Amino acid sequence: MICWIWIAVAVIIFPILLKVTQPYGRHSKNNWGPMINNRLGWFLMEMPALVIFGYFLAFRANLFNVLILAPALLWTLHYIHRVLIFPLQIRTGRKKIPVLIVLLAFFFNVINGFLNGYWFVQFPSVYRSGLFVNLRLLSGVFLFLSGFVINKYHDLILIKLRPASGNGYKIPYGGLFKYVSCPNFLGEIISWTGFVLVAFNLPALSFLIWTLVNLITRARDHHRWYLNEFPEYPKERKAIFPSFLFTWSGSQS
Ligand code: NDP
Repeated sequence: MICWIWIAVAVIIFPILLKVTQPYGRHSKNNWGPMINNRLGWFLMEMPALVIFGYFLAFRANLFNVLILAPALLWTLHYIHRVLIFPLQIRTGRKKIPVLIVLLAFFFNVINGFLNGYWFVQFPSVYRSGLFVNLRLLSGVFLFLSGFVINKYHDLILIKLRPASGNGYKIPYGGLFKYVSCPNFLGEIISWTGFVLVAFNLPALSFLIWTLVNLITRARDHHRWYLNEFPEYPKERKAIFPSFLFTWSGSQS
């Protein structure tokens, strides 16, 4: 029931985020209340997902069950990077992030870490070897890891566009930037789609829906920002989903 409410909240928030730009990074504004250091903000807001999920999995779940171990490893891989490595990688100058955004993201990660971790304690599936289960697990792990690589690779291209102490922005090129403005977000969406296949539960689906809501709206804002900021910005780029996906599916029908 809580998961359905959580999904409903994401659906309600989607049209709001189509109107209100999330005020951090290039869209940062100083009329959103007190601000804190960007790096510290990232660390604080993402940490609950690692700690709360980690608590349930390490102390209360049966890690000998592959249906629990596999999602636990993938989640931990992602969040160790996001909490401990990403904040150190970003070249953030003296940039700040609104405390309100950190608090909202902290709250999101508390609920998300709790729902995803608690599920494996409360409703652990029993592993029965079978073609469907194995295919689901393997394709999920493959998707998750592919998305992980796409996300990190393009995040790094973006981060390296700027000198170590700078604040400015440039047009990114290389990799999937040929097709879209935000391939890092596309990678994140692919990862959490894979996670749904691996975990195969409602909290994982709710996380994917939240990720879609957050990142589709943010990519739309980034894309518009690039077009406004750089007259020479490649016009054929889409915001987040490459046009060849739609051309391909269109040509099949
Ligand atoms: P952005 O793409 O906005 O920024 C990533 C980093 O690159 C930032 O440090 C940013 O600096 C820098 N950067 C971006 N574009 C440029 C450019 N053109 N020139 C120079 N530097 C640039 O990503 P977010 O900060 O929104 O997100 C970071 C990570 O978190 C991503 O991997 C994303 O997928 C993930 N995320 C996941 C969410 C989810 O719901 N699952 C929600 C939000 C993020 P600056 O910050 O100064 O702009």
